Amino acid sequence: MSETVSERLAALSPSETLAMSQKSAELKAQGIDVINMSVGEPDFFTPEHIKTAAKKAIDDNFSFYSPVPGYMDLRKAIAGKLKRENGLDYAPEQIVVSNGAKQSVCNALLCIIDKGDEVIIPTPAWVSYMEMVKLAEGTNVLVNAGIEQDFKITPEQLEKNITPRTKALILCSPSNPTGSVYSAEELAALAKVLVKHPRVIIIADEIYEHINYVGGHASIAAYPEIKERVALINGVSKAYAMTGWRIGFMAAPLWLAKACNKLQGQYTSGPSSIAQKASVEAFNGPQECVQEMCEAFRRRRDLIVSLAKEIPGFKVNIPHGAFYIFPEVSYYFGKSDGERTISNAADLAMYLLEKGHVAAVGGAAFGAPEYLRFSYATSDENIKEAMTRVKETLANLK
Ligand code: PMP
Ligand code: GLU
Repeated sequence: MSETVSERLAALSPSETLAMSQKSAELKAQGIDVINMSVGEPDFFTPEHIKTAAKKAIDDNFSFYSPVPGYMDLRKAIAGKLKRENGLDYAPEQIVVSNGAKQSVCNALLCIIDKGDEVIIPTPAWVSYMEMVKLAEGTNVLVNAGIEQDFKITPEQLEKNITPRTKALILCSPSNPTGSVYSAEELAALAKVLVKHPRVIIIADEIYEHINYVGGHASIAAYPEIKERVALINGVSKAYAMTGWRIGFMAAPLWLAKACNKLQGQYTSGPSSIAQKASVEAFNGPQECVQEMCEAFRRRRDLIVSLAKEIPGFKVNIPHGAFYIFPEVSYYFGKSDGERTISNAADLAMYLLEKGHVAAVGGAAFGAPEYLRFSYATSDENIKEAMTRVKETLANLK
């Protein structure tokens, strides 16, 4: 029997964030005390009131297929959240609930991209965007925004990269992997450019909305001139510590919501009924938990930034949201401990994992090969111990 996978699959890179996390788990299983700062997920447990709602949903026999775009009460709860927190008007029919924000982004791309359509992705960017564009047979147009510009693209950069083939822009704020946050003014300036290009759909990934240390969240969907072209993506994973429940959503113009509904109807159906009922409680229930977790992340951000700045050769930007630091580490390229020479950030991440037992992710998968990503969604003790190990391990490289 032929064991040849499709060209589409062969061209796909595995998720580097999940791969590093897997390696870290393997070392842990061998009894090695690894501190895993590779995968980005809150280390908190899902709040009690949300778990109670899920248990009730089981007892109430929510065990049947749900409507493909999600239960109406969940879509109403999401529309309520968008109005209350973001001042945005969406009808429940414009909302499609999926298996995590990951599927929502992929759905949107599969529904709008034809072969060869260009998708502008400001880099550094989350590892999966580029691979999803490849799956949709689109062309990635990576627009680099380095540490010197706080990892944010300028309106001029955006304008310069729009061509007649541009079909979409993926904008992530607060950003994974950099933690940068676009202000309302910066978004307004980007929106001004986009107004001139009516073919371009804006995929706004706002999954880190609530992990923001500079105050109110600004959404690019708030600009009425372009709102009809925004696919707003969000979910419960990060704000409510619900990564394993797999609930995300897209709020979009009706035509796009209908398209995602059709797509989802053929390859996943609606997401888990129990997780949906838990998510209704997440959006409608008490919100103090969100604030408390954000405060904890802010404290950890301050801690890790102060410790990382002490590490020779690390150029550290101050992240204003999400839970990652993304230092520039090219100082170590070409250095050796006498046995091993570090050529790039992937080598450095592997060196830190094997010698220092700290798992981070090399920047290449984020389109930024001179950087390393550390997730600080872990305890203060782990952060202190990890940064000590990193500093000591890197001191061996001359
Ligand atoms: N977008 C970004 C930027 C992310 O970091 C993540 C987390 N993996 C996702 C989307 C997907 O989140 P979810 O767990 O809801 O699929
Ligand atoms: N958002 C997380 C990360 O970037 C989860 C893993 C993933 O889906 O990529 O690490």
